[in-house]
Amino acid sequence: MATVEVKNVDKVYDNKVKAVSNASFVAKDKEFVILVGPSGCGKSTTLRMIAGLEEITKGEIKIGDKIVNNVSPKDRDIAMVFQNYALYPHMSVYENMAFALKLRKYKKEEIDKRVKEAAALLGIGELLDRKPKQLSGGQRQRVALGRAIVRQPKVFLFDEPLSNLDAKLRVQMRAEIIKLHKQLDTTIIYVTHDQTEAMTMANKIVVMKDGIIQQIDSPLKIYDNPNNLFVAGFLGSPAINQFQGKIIKKDDKLHFAGEGFDVAVAQKSEKALQEYVDKPVIMGIRPEDIYDSQYDSMASEPQKLHAICEVVEPLGNEFIVFVKIGDVNSVTARFDPKRLPQIDEKLDVTFDMSRTHYFDTETELAIR
Ligand code: ADP
Repeated sequence: MATVEVKNVDKVYDNKVKAVSNASFVAKDKEFVILVGPSGCGKSTTLRMIAGLEEITKGEIKIGDKIVNNVSPKDRDIAMVFQNYALYPHMSVYENMAFALKLRKYKKEEIDKRVKEAAALLGIGELLDRKPKQLSGGQRQRVALGRAIVRQPKVFLFDEPLSNLDAKLRVQMRAEIIKLHKQLDTTIIYVTHDQTEAMTMANKIVVMKDGIIQQIDSPLKIYDNPNNLFVAGFLGSPAINQFQGKIIKKDDKLHFAGEGFDVAVAQKSEKALQEYVDKPVIMGIRPEDIYDSQYDSMASEPQKLHAICEVVEPLGNEFIVFVKIGDVNSVTARFDPKRLPQIDEKLDVTFDMSRTHYFDTETELAIR
C-alpha cells in the first residue's frame, strides 16, 4: 500500500512539446484517482512518468516515502494495465499471468497460488489454458488485470483500460473495477478521456487540459462547483448549456440578461455577481436543472421562460429535449419522462436558478 505524490512535475519531450506543466497531485493510500481530460492533454505522459517509462523533466515523484525520479520501472512496485492488453499471444492465460512472477524467480507453488487466486477473483478460472486469441475482448482485459494483480503491487496504474471494449462491456467492467478496487484495497491511478468513467469510478478526479491540471476534487464536488468553463463543459453528458449575456440590475435585484430572455439571479449568487453589473458573463446550467414548467417539481417557480421544442430524444427513462429559448437555439434539457413534447410545440421551461454557474468571459474562471 502506498501514497503517490506528484510534485511540480514538468515534461518536455525531445521535440520541445511541453506535455505536462507543473503538475501536482496526491493519490493517497487506497485512493482511486482518475486523470481525465481530452486527448493530448498529458494524462498518459503523467501516468508513464509515475511508472518510470518516461523521464521527468522537472519536479519530483514519490511512491510511499521514496523519491522515485531515478528508480527504474521494475523497482517501483507498481503494475500497469494498458488499453491494448499487451498479452503475449503464444502464451496461455496461465503463462501470461505467471510470466512476471517467473521473471522475478518466485517459487512455483507461490506462482500457482497467486495466479489461481487472481483468476478466481476475476472469474477467469476456466480460461487458464486458453491462448489470448481464443478470448473475447472482455476476457482479455480481465487477463491483463490478472497479470497486474498477481504481482501484488503497491500501486496499480491503468491507461485507458476500457476504451477497446464495446459500450455494454465497458459499463460492466467499470463496475468490476470498482469492486476490484474494494477487494484489493490498494491505490489506483487511472487515465481516461471518458468523463463518465471518471465520474462513476473515482474517489478523486484530476481534470487536465493542455498539460495543465484544472481542478482536483471528488467527482460530485467538481460537477457541482467547476472552477472554470472548461471543467464545467467537460464533465456531464449531455454537456452544460452556456449562455452569453450580462448582469443587470432590475428593481434592486440582479438579473442575467441573455439573448432574448432574462432571469432573476438566485440570492446565493448575488454577492459574487455584484461587481459584474452591466458587464458580460457566461451563465451555465446543466440539462437536468431545466424543467418543463407544467409538469415538474419547479411548477410553483414564478419565472417561466417561453421555449419552442426543436428536437426530442426519448430515451425511455428520460427525455432529452432541445429547445429554443429567446434567441438561443438548441438549449439541452433533460426532462422526466412524463410527457414527450412535440416538435415545434411551445412550452414553458423553468431554470433551477440555485444550480446555475457564472463565468468571467475573459478568464473563463467561475465567479463565486
Ligand atoms: P493524453 O494521454 O492526454 O492523450 P499524452 O500524454 O499522450 O496525452 O500526450 C500529451 C502531449 O505530448 C501531446 O501533445 C502528444 O502529442 C505529446 N507526446 C506524447 N508522447 C510524445 C513523445 N513520445 N514524443 C513527443 N511528443 C509526445
